[in-house]
Amino acid sequence: MSQHETHHFQAEIQQLLNIVIHSLYTDKEIFVRELVSNAADACEKLRFHQSSGQPVYQAEIAPAILVTTDESAGTITITDTGLGMTHGELVENLGTIAHSGTKAFLKQLAEDKKPDAGLIGQFGVGFYSAFMVAKRVTVWSRSFAPEEQGWQWTSEGMGGYDLAPAADLARGTRITLELKDDAKSFSQTGTIEGVIQRYSSFVPFPIELNAKRLNTVQAIWARNKNEITEEEYNEFYTFVGHDHEKPLFRLSFSADAPLSIQSLLFVPSRNFETLGMGRMDSEVNLYCRKVLIQSKAKGLFPEWLRFLKGVVDSEDLPLNISRETMQDTSLLQKLNRVLTGRFLKFLEEQSEKAPESYAKFYAEYQRFLKEGVVTDFTHKEALGKLLRYESSALAPGQSTSLADYVKRLPSDQTEIYCLLAANRAAAEASPYFEVFKERGWEVLFLYDAWDEFVMEHLRAFDGKSLKLAEKAELNLSAPKPGGLSEEASGELARWLKETLGDKVSEVRASRRLVESPAVVVDSDKFMTASMRRIMKAMKQDGPEPVAPKPDFEINPAHPILARLDAVRRTDNALAASVAEQILDNARVAAGLLEDPRAMLSRLNELLEKVLK
Ligand code: ADP
Ligand code: MG
Repeated sequence: MSQHETHHFQAEIQQLLNIVIHSLYTDKEIFVRELVSNAADACEKLRFHQSSGQPVYQAEIAPAILVTTDESAGTITITDTGLGMTHGELVENLGTIAHSGTKAFLKQLAEDKKPDAGLIGQFGVGFYSAFMVAKRVTVWSRSFAPEEQGWQWTSEGMGGYDLAPAADLARGTRITLELKDDAKSFSQTGTIEGVIQRYSSFVPFPIELNAKRLNTVQAIWARNKNEITEEEYNEFYTFVGHDHEKPLFRLSFSADAPLSIQSLLFVPSRNFETLGMGRMDSEVNLYCRKVLIQSKAKGLFPEWLRFLKGVVDSEDLPLNISRETMQDTSLLQKLNRVLTGRFLKFLEEQSEKAPESYAKFYAEYQRFLKEGVVTDFTHKEALGKLLRYESSALAPGQSTSLADYVKRLPSDQTEIYCLLAANRAAAEASPYFEVFKERGWEVLFLYDAWDEFVMEHLRAFDGKSLKLAEKAELNLSAPKPGGLSEEASGELARWLKETLGDKVSEVRASRRLVESPAVVVDSDKFMTASMRRIMKAMKQDGPEPVAPKPDFEINPAHPILARLDAVRRTDNALAASVAEQILDNARVAAGLLEDPRAMLSRLNELLEKVLK
């Protein structure tokens, strides 16, 4: 058995190698990931044999991976002190398609009929990826089984390979790639260092490149939570998050069903998007057994969670999955569902257990949660629980959840009310707030125009529908005494409609005003003025959404209206001018008057009359 042998590759392997060799695939660097993964697997297997008490050749040598480059010779060598291969294993493993990655690749080829060079890199074809960059590959291997001996396997990729005995080998496998001319850069330390850092930083065995230790950060996501120190977490976060501040939140989560998941997620202490750095990309990297599958994995989380950083590791992912096929696998969708659900639950827990941290988180990231409500139907309800608003029932600066609002509801209130205003003072002075104040009903104050959209999408919470205060069909609990009779106010309303003409749609007596003489009400049942403004801003080129004429509601109990009713009989011109002014005032209160300068001349005329 100890003489030189020449073997032919299995036909499928030959077919595969032809494509590998002739492919012009750009991601050639993945051969490093493949060979280092194989080395790590070999170390893992050795450890397994050792722990199960089997005799191991050179048991004193710890499992490790050593990479060396020789720029002048144009070679790269990857050595591991793992379990090694026997003669039979070399033939079986490196000459036939018994193993997974290659099988999947060939299956794809069979289905597609036409071999596509790009496919090579998409399917990590394991060991054979070495031939993308090497004109000759030599493997020296010595099995861990004490009675075995060393072997040398050599191939130029075409036809077959040579096998010969090799003396004095240490346990494990050494693979030398004689690089092709166009792949010589892989014999440079700098190139290889970057590639190893990228894909193999968390391989659980030491990796040395030209005697320098590379992977010093541990894959702590795969370890028992209780054994990890705060420093280790911070060091890890700095490494994966590229952020020197401490994270705001950390969630370590693992599951066995329905998928095997080990994940460690972080919320950075600051929202990078508000720092003027543009739209962020999710920085959660996807691993399979500690080997990188995809950095900044797309589709792993919904867009609105793009501020998350960290790692997701799932053994259910095939190592050779491609970037392109990755994005629409149902596996990824499943991961997405499980992870997003878990993260939302985590936030809910934090809001109760650590309200201060949650408030900080909310201040930084509320826009993302709101984006989620509007764009992510699946998680809308869970997101609704996370929203916080100031409320008429609480002191300024304090905010409430919708759940707590619902708990405070008086028995005769069936809806949740919100009022958009520039700030607290404006909200409390708003004519739309008067009816709520009179009834003692709580109103949520929204200070961000987007919030109206958010409420519109959320629609309901805990079975109570969400209503914008200005759209609420509500009357005062007790009509205010005094003022104009029903008949008189009806007549005044008719006169006002005649006088104001096209500026208003309908004029009617209001049953919700206390302090204000009048209010304008959007005649559109759903849209509000601020929503129209946002819509307009979003489609800059499109036609402007036309604002419908507002309804005009007057307060019959207000002295101004009573006097107006009297004056219109004696001085119609003055009354008309006052009517216009009352309408403009109501527009101001509603934030609808685009150019207040237009009303100044009228106001001045009125002042003149008052002062005469
Ligand atoms: P896969 O890793 O998906 O099985 P590869 O083409 O990467 O496919 O490797 C083929 C097989 O060769 C492996 O399953 C393993 O049995 C063997 N092998 C490759 N590299 C090594 C190594 N460094 N040490 C021991 N066995 C190896
Ligand atoms: Mg492999």
